[in-house]
This record gives sequence, structure tokens and C-alpha cells, in this order.
Amino acid sequence: MAQLDTREKLAILADAAKYDASCASSGTSKRNSAGGKGLGSTEGSGICHAYAPDGRCISLLKILLTNSCVFNCHYCINRKSSNVRRARFTAQEVVQLTLAFYKRNYIEGLFLSSGIIKSSNYTMEQLVEVARSLREDHDFRGYIHLKTIPDADPELVRMAGLYADRVSINVELPTVPGLKRLAPEKSAGQIEGAMLGMKGAIEDGRDAKKKYKSAPSFAPAGQSTQMIVGADAATDSDIVVKASTLYDRFSLRRVYYSAFSPIPDASAVLPLQRPPLMREHRLYQSDWLMRFYGFKPEEVVSAAEPDGMLPLDIDPKLAWALKFREYFPVDVNRASREQLLRVPGLGTKAVDRILRSRRFRTFSLDDVARLTVSVAKIRPFIVTSDWRPTLLTDRADLKRWIKPEKSQLELFAA
Ligand code: SF4
Repeated sequence: MAQLDTREKLAILADAAKYDASCASSGTSKRNSAGGKGLGSTEGSGICHAYAPDGRCISLLKILLTNSCVFNCHYCINRKSSNVRRARFTAQEVVQLTLAFYKRNYIEGLFLSSGIIKSSNYTMEQLVEVARSLREDHDFRGYIHLKTIPDADPELVRMAGLYADRVSINVELPTVPGLKRLAPEKSAGQIEGAMLGMKGAIEDGRDAKKKYKSAPSFAPAGQSTQMIVGADAATDSDIVVKASTLYDRFSLRRVYYSAFSPIPDASAVLPLQRPPLMREHRLYQSDWLMRFYGFKPEEVVSAAEPDGMLPLDIDPKLAWALKFREYFPVDVNRASREQLLRVPGLGTKAVDRILRSRRFRTFSLDDVARLTVSVAKIRPFIVTSDWRPTLLTDRADLKRWIKPEKSQLELFAA
């Protein structure tokens, strides 16, 4: 490996970390101030945002310890056979960088992942050493998110939880055949075994803390995982069912979805085209429906098209409502919380406000309109004191009525 200075290593290893979505602040447009115009850039890598357990948005230094790897996962730019420039930080270099950035007020924490150097145990030791040194040698109290390596010694994985706020273990692909094909050195059994071990350790840590105030915190921000979308043949329905199983079995805080993006010198087994970014967005919306809106995974799946994919042109809640019209219209002034949460266009905050306010007054359509972005979307599905959608809910063309198809405007139209 060529001798690189810290700045060069940082450029390589921060850029290599951008493929990990589990604390991403991605999705915005590309802007920069190159050429002396303006201030700031959305293109640089290295600092991302995450939400702390108390809801604050915090900035994290997001880097890899190294982008060298002895594994050869087809979808990964850092795989052994990839022709990228390699770099590697020592554990102490990461510690010093984190402290230097923290003291300059650039960051409030660290997100650290790594390719696998020498062996899983050796790599895990290095990751844990960064977190240990920050906490014990420097009394660092900022946020730490550590990626853990599933086939490393369970004791090392457990130590990660002692020093980090959040730990994550990537399931990588939604199906076992997909994992076997695209990440042949990884094992679904090992990944899930590590997640199960981490779940147990987090619960033990919580119990100990309840009994003894002085017990050390163990991964207080829980564990999360990431799935790559669009690199294998898994449908949205497969992904929704997998995510729900992961939440149930491992008490995950979050499942992140990362739309597969073609990489330079890509392996021939990968698709040539990236999936539409909207697919990732629809999966996040379906995730939200299961976590906050009381939808069961099979209900989200029933909103999908016959090919198992969620529609891209409308959100999954509207897709479900259009398929199951017998549940509508819902009377805003009488319906239960569960019924109101099913109404397309009504979010959890709007529902809570309706429930609080309707004890003192009745809601008209205008009142509801003030709580939603689009009253056109919501009208066919609700009844208010001055509105009842006669036959609207039964219209065959209801989808087009709510969401007119986009058409190219005539340049010289009158
Ligand atoms: S183990 Fe991680 S870093 Fe290595 S090739 Fe696989 S996904 Fe990439």
C-alpha cells in the first residue's frame, strides 16, 4: 500500500464509507462552492448526520478504518478484486482524528466501519480499540456507532456494545440465495447469530442498569442493520417480510435500505442498472407504516402489484387504501386512532391533533385540510361535519382522480 498522508487517507476512507446508508444524510441534490461561488458543498463525504436517542440531530465523522478487504462481495467497491486506491488508518489515527474534529466542533461523534483486514477477529479488535481508547484514554462522551463483523469472536462483538452507543450488523441482502450468490464468504446463519447475541447482550445490559445504577451502559441506542435493494431478484414484498422478521426477532431500532448503485469494474453477476431511488423511498414508507401506523407486513404486501413490487407512482398507504376501499370513508369525528391512521394523507401528528381537538369541537373538511398537504388525496376517504364522498370511494378511476397522470406541457399552448 502506498504511503499516504492523513488528508489523502481521509479522502479515500470517507468516500468509501458513503455506500453505508445506515447513518446517511444522502438524497439531496449535488451542489458545491468550487470556483469561489457560494459557500459549502453537498458532495463531500466524511460527515453525516444521525439522530441521538434524545432526538437531536448530530454530525458524525463517517469513515472506514480501511477499504482493503480479504472478502469479495460482488456488490462492494472495496472487495478484494476491486481496482480502487486503498488506504488504511491505524486505530490511534482514527482516535486522534475524531478528537481533533470534535475539538474543532465539526462533529459530535464517530461512525466507524471497515473492510476485513487479515481476519474478522483482527479487524474487530481494531474497531473495538478505537472505541475503547476514545472512551477510556480520552473520556470521550460523544456518540459512537460501530459496525460489527458477524463472524468475529462473540466476546469482541460484545465489547463493541460496551463502548459504542449503537452497533450494527448488516444482513446485506434480503434473501439467503441472494447472499450466497453475491457475498459467498458471508453466512446468513452467522449474521443472524451475531444479531441474536447482540439482542441478548442489549437486554441484559438494560436489566442490569435497572437493578444497579452503576452498571455500565450497553449499546444504549440499540442495534440496526442495512439491506441492499436491487442487486438481487428480491421483490419489495420479500424485503418487507424480511424487515418485519428482523424487527421482531432482533428488536432492531432501524432497518436501512440502500439502493444498489453500479460500481466501477462491476462484477458480471450484478444488474447493469441501478433500481429507481423511488423504490428505496417506498420501502422506507412501508417500514414507517409497520412501525408507526399499525400495518402488518402482510397488509403492506397486499398493497404491492402482482409482481410483488410496490407502486412507484403512489405511496404504499394510498395503494393499500385504493385496494381496500371497503374500510372507507372514515368519519374523522368518530373513528378510532387505528382507523384514522389508515387514511391516506393523515400522519401520526395530524391524527393525534384530531383526537385531542375533537373532544371540544367537530371537524369540517377545511379543518382537516389544515392538517394535511393535499385535501384532494384525503377527501375520498373521509367523512366530516360538512363532507361525505358520495360514490367517490367507488370510482374506478379514483387513482387518476387523486393523482392525475403527468403530461408534457405544450410549449406554445394558448
Ligand atoms: S466484507 Fe464488507 S468491505 Fe469486504 S467486500 Fe464484503 S461488503 Fe465489502
